[in-house]
Order: sequence, then C-alpha cells, then structure tokens
Amino acid sequence: MKLAAPRHSAPTDAAARRAVEPVVCYPVDTLPPADLPLYARAREGARKTGEVRVPAREGRLFEVPAGTFFRIVSVEGPQVGDLNLWNAADLSERFYAGKTRALHGTHVGPGDRLWSSFPTLRPMATVVDDTLDWYGYDDFGGGVHDVIGTRCDPYTAMLLQGEPYHHCCHSNLARALAERMGAPPREIEAHVHDVLNVFMCTGFTRDTQQYFMKETPVRPGDHLEFFAEIDLIGGLSACPGGACGDAHSSDTAPCHPLLVELYEPTNDALAEAGWTPPPPNAYDRSHGT
Ligand SMILES: [Zn+2]
Repeated sequence: MKLAAPRHSAPTDAAARRAVEPVVCYPVDTLPPADLPLYARAREGARKTGEVRVPAREGRLFEVPAGTFFRIVSVEGPQVGDLNLWNAADLSERFYAGKTRALHGTHVGPGDRLWSSFPTLRPMATVVDDTLDWYGYDDFGGGVHDVIGTRCDPYTAMLLQGEPYHHCCHSNLARALAERMGAPPREIEAHVHDVLNVFMCTGFTRDTQQYFMKETPVRPGDHLEFFAEIDLIGGLSACPGGACGDAHSSDTAPCHPLLVELYEPTNDALAEAGWTPPPPNAYDRSHGT
C-alpha cells in the first residue's frame, strides 16, 4: 500500500507525468484466438462420462483427457472453488495464474486460456462457457473468476491470526494430491499452486488497491466450463469461505459442495478440423548462452 501521507513532495510536472496514457503490457492480438465455434461443434451431443463431487471444505482431483470438456457446477448453494491444473503426465507443468492474468486480465471468461508454467507456457484449458458472463464488472470494480488471489492457506492464517486452519484450499488440495501420490502432504504441497478462483467475486479497492472479495453472485445450476487442451489432472477445493462474502480460513461461513462434470465429444469435429493438443512453447531455453 502507498503511504497516505507521502514523504516526498510532488515535482512541478507531476500532473503531466500522471496524465501519460497507459499501454497494455501484453497485447494479445498476435495470440491465435481460441476456436470457440470448433469447440462448440465438438460439444454438441457430448456424452457425460463422469462426475466428481467436491464436499464442502474439502478438495478432490479429477482427470480430463485432452480434447474433452469439464464443467464446474454450483450445487446446493453459493460456493467458491479454487482450481489447480496439472499436466497429467508431468506435475511440474501446472497452471500459471500470474501469466494468465498478464495475458487475459484479472478475471477470465469464454475464449480465455489457462496457461501453463515455464518452460511449456501453452494453453492447458480454454474457458468455453460461463453462465455468469452477464456479471461483467460491478460498480466496485468486482468481477467473477479471478486469477488475482493465491488460495487460502495455513501459513497466511498463522501470520495474520496466529493459528492455522487445516481445511483451507491449499491444504485441501495438498491432501487430495497427497492421497493420489501416496505421500504425506508436506512432501506434496509444493505442487499446489496459485489458483483460478471459480465463482469468486473479487477486485481491488479503489482507494488502497487492496484485493477484495464480495459475496459471489453464483446460484445453484450455474457453471463454468472448460475444454481440456492437454491431458489434465484437475484439483478443486470447495473454499471454506463459502460464498466468500465475509470470512474465510475458518468454520464460520456456510459452505456447500461443488460438482465437476466430465463430457466427451461423440462426433469427429475435432479430428476433421485437424485439432491436436498445443505443443510446448517454442523457446529453445538457451537464455542467451
Ligand atoms: Zn479458499
């Protein structure tokens, strides 16, 4: 946060310096756009192949083959979910929330890609449908499905409240992944990474630019759906913040489960279009040497 009372006086040309127009850091005009019409054709008549129910204040994993779809559905009541994605064949390739934010903005919507970490930096999944796309940005600057926040975790709880909270999203995801890997959470937790905050309504306060949350507008039946660009393991935590309108990292907020539905195309639209999973980033990794 900036000092309320700066220690240095403004220069005489302060107004002119402030008036300089901003430019977008990473213009995405050169990015090939997601082929949403193709994905829509592939989705027509898709067959539901399974579902995973994520209990309140818990995390669960699910697998999504490349070229298929997964949908996160609100059930029972307003609930926020923290999403992690890994390459199913290599956990070191994982969702990179920061670069996704740099490319697509603070909140994602249809057509936006969820990008992977270095050195692959490629689309892992593409948002194809969002029943909350009507929300846009509200008068507070809040929007839905952010890639700003990190995930609620026991370390920050220790820092701020002096005691840990074990059913936070970081620990929920660590336990779910640890169970799959057959190892203790402490050996696995480094694979847990910054999330896509599904259904969460967030922004930055106008005065201090602090990260804020407000009660999610999601209602049972709403969904956010993705196309898997590569073979994925997904991890979803039903955040202990519930609707995230008040507290998180405690047992005080009413919480609900979330549902993940898996869909597989039944037509040849992808094959006919010559669709294949995106290759890893083309950079040769020589770093100037
Ligand atoms: Zn959380």
